[in-house]
Parts: sequence; C-alpha cells; structure tokens
Amino acid sequence: MSIFVFGHTTPDSDSIVGSISLSYLKNQLGEDTTPTRQGEINPETKFILDKFGYEKPKLKTSYAGERVYLIDFMESSQSPADIDEATILGIVDHHKLGDLKTATPLEMWVRPVGCSNTIVKQMFDYYGIDIPTNLAGMMMCAILSDTVIFKSPTCTKEDTKACKELAKIAGIEDYKALGMEMFIVKSDVLSATKRELVLRDFKDFNMGGNKIGVGQLEVVDLSVFDNMKDELFQEMQNLKDEGERHSVLLMLTDIMQEGTQLLALSDEPSKIEDAFDKKLENNQVWLPKVMSRKKQIIPFLEKIF
Ligand code: MG
Ligand code: MG
Ligand code: MG
Repeated sequence: MSIFVFGHTTPDSDSIVGSISLSYLKNQLGEDTTPTRQGEINPETKFILDKFGYEKPKLKTSYAGERVYLIDFMESSQSPADIDEATILGIVDHHKLGDLKTATPLEMWVRPVGCSNTIVKQMFDYYGIDIPTNLAGMMMCAILSDTVIFKSPTCTKEDTKACKELAKIAGIEDYKALGMEMFIVKSDVLSATKRELVLRDFKDFNMGGNKIGVGQLEVVDLSVFDNMKDELFQEMQNLKDEGERHSVLLMLTDIMQEGTQLLALSDEPSKIEDAFDKKLENNQVWLPKVMSRKKQIIPFLEKIF
C-alpha cells in the first residue's frame, strides 16, 4: 500500500510543495509514496502549482493504519486527529522539536534552516538524484515564500544556496522578481472572506495547557487591512470561542517595512504584553523587525506560558 507524504493543517506552500518533492524523491529511491494534503491550498500555492504545471495533492485527513512521512511539522496540534494510529516512517522539518511520539524507529531530517524544501534539496544531493526542472522551480518558490525572499531571520546561507541552485536547474534567472510576484498574489486579501484570511496560515500551539492560535498574513503593504480590522477581530473572537482558545493572535506582516502589526485577543492580555515587553493598544501592537512566527513570536509566548 502506498505511503502518504503530507504537511501540516492549513497547508502553506512549503507543506504542499514539500509533500510533492519528498514523495518524488522517495519514489526515485524505490518506495511507493503519494503526496497528500490536510486542507485547502492558499492562493500563493495555487500560483506556484499553476506556474509549474502541477496538480494539487489529494485531500486526505484520516491516516489510521497508514504509513506516513511528515514534512514541515511535528506537532500533534498540526496533525490529523488519528496520527497516533499511523506509522510515522520519517519526518523532514525545520521547526522546534514537537510532541509527536512513535512506536518504531524513524528517519529524521530536522535542521534549523528557513524552509523544509531546503532540506529536501539537500536530501536530493545526498542521494545523488536529479530534480526535474519544474519541481526545482516549485521548491525554489517554497524557499522564497518561507524565507520571505531571504528577509526572514529564519533564512540561512543554506537556504540561499539551495534556492540559487534550484533556480539554475529551473532556468529562472530573476528568481527574486518571481518571489515578489508571488508575494503580490499573497497580498490580495480583498477577494477572500475575513474568516479565510484569519485561517490562511493559522497554527495552534499548546502552551502550558493553554490552546494558543497564531495566524499570519504577509503582504507588501499593510494599508490593505485599514478598513477590515474590526471584521478580522470579529473572526478572531469567533475562533477563540469555537476552539476554546486562551488566545488568538494574528500577525499582519509587512514584508517591505519588515515588521508586524500584532492583533491579539486573549484571556490574559498582560501575558501577551509581557511576552513582547510592549503595551497593547486596542488589542494591537507594532513589532518592528518581527517577521517570523517560529523565531520571533512562539518562543517568547512559550517562555511566558
Ligand atoms: Mg509551513
Ligand atoms: Mg516551512
Ligand atoms: Mg511561513
């Protein structure tokens, strides 16, 4: 039976492209794998798939009795509900060590780089397997997305190196221009509902027994949110109530100004203020230079909680 390769819930481009690139590599190595996804793809990912002529992976949310590879996550809160009944053969990821447990030995490729596809590129190199032109283009886009065109503090030399090598394979000279085109697609927040926006890149974390949800929207100009803050707060409140969350945070990240307007609804707003050593005004605060949820938001919340 085929082995499934998939990324986190509310998948981003790294999760979707990673399921395809890791599945391709595994198949070249003689395994029978199929890329899947846990949720709808976002407009940026659709742009990437369309550009390079790939289909989106099949939607699959239940994995009991299956063998699986995980890419771009290792937290139970971002897993299928029945992950405990699956056999995890391997994990390829660039996040903090998660809380998943396995009953059998597994393969782990976990490195503190800016993108899972950087690690997949290194795996291709390790095994000496060629990357098809269009797959290389998609992996390059995933790296440009996760590293915010190399601007994110999560970006390492390994990411820029992998990205440049993939651009060469894909025959794309001005990869930064393509990255910018991608972020302009990502900045189109007017054609989505407010709920879709809050959920577009949303992750739940368990912090000291509290469920904390943190979403992020990366745009080229924050003014697109000027007339929709009230509605965004309403949807955040809905998510907070429905999911019995202690806090719901939404990062509105301006990739040109390089900073984040943080919207925060919390049972204990003082904890959010303490985490970032800033006062909230109308449930929001500007955090200069903050672009990464993984590196500049989550660790500070975890310390407080
Ligand atoms: Mg991701
Ligand atoms: Mg990633
Ligand atoms: Mg991201």
